[in-house]
Amino acid sequence: MRLILLGPPGAGKGTQAEILVSAYGIPQLSTGNILRAAIAEKTPMGLAAKEIMDRGDLVSDEIVNGIVSERLDHEDCKPGFILDGFPRTIPQAGALDKMLAEKGMGLDAVVEITADPDVLVARVINRAKESNRADDNPDVIRNRLSVYSEQTAPLVEFYRGKGLLKSVDGMQPVDEVTAAIRRAVHN
Ligand code: ADP
Repeated sequence: MRLILLGPPGAGKGTQAEILVSAYGIPQLSTGNILRAAIAEKTPMGLAAKEIMDRGDLVSDEIVNGIVSERLDHEDCKPGFILDGFPRTIPQAGALDKMLAEKGMGLDAVVEITADPDVLVARVINRAKESNRADDNPDVIRNRLSVYSEQTAPLVEFYRGKGLLKSVDGMQPVDEVTAAIRRAVHN
């Protein structure tokens, strides 16, 4: 199963990805988590990404494309993977298509988790209390939401055009969202 989870910050991509990891026995590839680990380890990539992420802007396509291409070559991705937070721009989606074609892999589905923008701000502010994420504060969240609508939302039409898009209502309880995703990918 090769899946992309698409949706605005706070829609529940990370939560659902973790559940699907155990359900399908495939890894979650979260570019956000990989970048945060690089920041914690103070690697050159982490140092370059930190300020950009703290503002809620997007790290360069070159950096994230490199992360994903390298990660897809790991043995654990053979049975499949769940991409969470990538692609986030049309050029990233183009780069992903190219990488997958080169690696002889195809996507099974792109699941869009939809959510009401007001609820998203509240959810992310709430998450900030536990997460220690520098980008989980109200101003940065608003910027992340507008970056999402400008740069990432166009991917919905991109994947609809490829016949891969499935939309799931992310405003339902967590287990109902999971059930909806499972139904969507098996159709
Ligand atoms: P969320 O889904 O809550 O927005 P993520 O953990 O996916 O959070 O991403 C946090 C930050 O990491 C983003 O705001 C961005 O700066 C950076 N980032 C993650 N994935 C990408 C990507 N594919 N392209 C560019 N920047 C990214």
